[in-house]
Amino acid sequence: MNKTGPRIITVANQKGGVGKTTTAINLATALAAIGEQVLIVDLDPQGNASTGLGIDRRDRNVSSYDVLTGSLEIEDAAVATAVPGLSIVPSTLDLLGIEMEISSAPDRVLRLRNAVRAASERSQSFDYVLVDCPPSLNLLTLNAMAAADSVLVPLQCEFFALEGLSQLLETVEQVRASINPALEIQGIVLTMFDGRNNLANQVVQDVRAHMGDKVYETVIPRNVRISEAPSYGKPAILYDLKCSGSQAYLQLASEVIRRERHQRAA
Ligand code: ADP
Ligand code: MG
Repeated sequence: MNKTGPRIITVANQKGGVGKTTTAINLATALAAIGEQVLIVDLDPQGNASTGLGIDRRDRNVSSYDVLTGSLEIEDAAVATAVPGLSIVPSTLDLLGIEMEISSAPDRVLRLRNAVRAASERSQSFDYVLVDCPPSLNLLTLNAMAAADSVLVPLQCEFFALEGLSQLLETVEQVRASINPALEIQGIVLTMFDGRNNLANQVVQDVRAHMGDKVYETVIPRNVRISEAPSYGKPAILYDLKCSGSQAYLQLASEVIRRERHQRAA
């Protein structure tokens, strides 16, 4: 179905614990569930997306490190998951050293982009590639932004939600001005919302006031089933489809698809 290569969505926020990995995994699962071929690239040395999709650390013989160093083609570094249609390029702790290793290479920021493009040229293509970023605006995140069509930003519903967002958006601007002029903001998703908390309601209002229609209508609730799912090596959508968190991620997926169609047509 992809005549134009995959749509590449980078899930980024330099803060940790805001829901990047949870969003990447569940969005990817929702897309795979409607028949898309989806690849997650785990670019966080912590490897939470890999663990959360049931890829045990001991079983990681291939990784995103191999892709970035050029020793493996991306499709050869992808492993199947329990979700039909969803595979992942796992991460290993080797990634911690990548910055040092490739920092003097002229193409250091373009490693992921070139790997994805090369795969498309071999027709080893996916409909969607989702990149799960580390909690940092480092070379890994820059690789993810350079490769992407769009950036999806999870923001936790807490007091400091907007703090740091301007720095992230500035980085997107810089990437756009230099290596990836077509980069868009897919959207901002508010996560871990607790409606009983007045502050959370205030945060939702503030973020919508500042960021307007960049913010998805869907708000992801705080939901214990979501936090349990990774310890079973499953996306929440597989672990408990009916829970409020899974339902919210399905709704988010439909918004993402709508925006992708719109951006692709533009
Ligand atoms: P990040 O990738 O930004 O560091 P994670 O997706 O790993 O963030 O989420 C941080 C922690 O919060 C994880 O333990 C995760 O299971 C939990 N979590 C994420 N989203 C929710 C949610 N909607 N409800 C409850 N717990 C959540
Ligand atoms: Mg993470």
